[in-house]
Amino acid sequence: MSKTTTTQFSSKSRGQYNAKAYSAASATSPLAPTTIPRRDPSEDDVQIEILFCGICHSDLHTVRNEWGGAVYPCVPGHEILGRVTRVGSAVSKFKPGDLAAVGCMVDSDGSCPECQAGLEQFCPNMIATYNSPDKHLGGVTYGGYSESIVVKERFVLHVPSNLDPAGAAPLLCAGITTYSPLRHWGVTKGKKVGVVGLGGLGHMAVKFAHALGAHVVVFTTSPNKKEDALRLGADNVVVSRDTEQMKKHAGSFDFILDAVSAEHDIDAYIQLLRRDGNITLVGAPPKPLAVAGFGLVFKRRSLSGSLIGGIAETQEMLDFCGKHNITSDVEVIPIQKVNEAYERMLTSDVKYRFSIDMASLKSK
Ligand code: NAP
Ligand code: ZN
Repeated sequence: MSKTTTTQFSSKSRGQYNAKAYSAASATSPLAPTTIPRRDPSEDDVQIEILFCGICHSDLHTVRNEWGGAVYPCVPGHEILGRVTRVGSAVSKFKPGDLAAVGCMVDSDGSCPECQAGLEQFCPNMIATYNSPDKHLGGVTYGGYSESIVVKERFVLHVPSNLDPAGAAPLLCAGITTYSPLRHWGVTKGKKVGVVGLGGLGHMAVKFAHALGAHVVVFTTSPNKKEDALRLGADNVVVSRDTEQMKKHAGSFDFILDAVSAEHDIDAYIQLLRRDGNITLVGAPPKPLAVAGFGLVFKRRSLSGSLIGGIAETQEMLDFCGKHNITSDVEVIPIQKVNEAYERMLTSDVKYRFSIDMASLKSK
């Protein structure tokens, strides 16, 4: 099926080593086995042997260049969980053998107002885990579809030991991306909260909103996900193509989280917000969404976006998951099935996150 690609990456030299990985050579190529350079850990670095890496829809958007700006070869993956293998001399919070995790960011300037506020995701110099300039090795950063990664200690997270590692990996993106806006918009007991799209992000939003005590309604285009939505913590499920069911909820929501990856009618959800209600987009469909001004001006409703979450909040989310025993519902796959998994993600056929068992990278 897939061929090993060997030519695109610089060969081993001083200060770096080679790691097995999967990469895409172009927007139309499947992911295929390859070897990538990783830097040897410097004093503030942590080297992690990757055990599991979740598959986010952003990986697919990037690999297929749906957002523009993708650089090839592209090694995606930003839901990384593994075991520490080496640490630099200045590292104080991790030691070899510890469980550790890395999400969507691997660096930021640390000094701008966003970083000072603990919102590294908005730092103008934030370096994403993949497809960002790599100041150490040149080229771009390579993500978690790989056997190991080397990351600054400041961007490495602790994973509660009670959590299943395969199910904990997706917390590093799907988890924090949903936890952060729920907290920011004050979701708590007594609030009516909608979650649009029961995918990787959506199912985590349901778990968190339920754990925070809200009344949770799931909006799905997939009638076969109804039972699952209730099991995950929803109080009610609406099949969004059913306009009668939609109308019943008009003007009633405090907050709606929209986690849809494709074009859809966001106005239909704006109509469901009460006065001063907010709908936050975490989904990032490649094409712009049409929004009617009237839906917002009446009832003073607002529409916002949210991007992952800062490092401190990511640790807070992981600790919250440890306390409440929350992980992602995963289908564990070998990396050889990654291209098939992408196709299944496009047809909403994933319950509810693929988690790649990275041990499979070692087998032929
Ligand atoms: P996913 O697992 O593929 O889930 C997306 C869900 O959207 C599907 O399961 C489906 O739910 C619904 N959906 C898909 N196509 C649809 C359509 N044409 N009309 C209506 N609903 C549709 O994707 P994900 O990994 O959760 O990511 C979702 C989006 O969030 C992506 O665009 C991703 O890039 C973005 N994202 C953003 C951030 C951030 O920081 N803001 C972080 C991570 C990901 P139902 O079957 O229930 O309808
Ligand atoms: Zn993601």
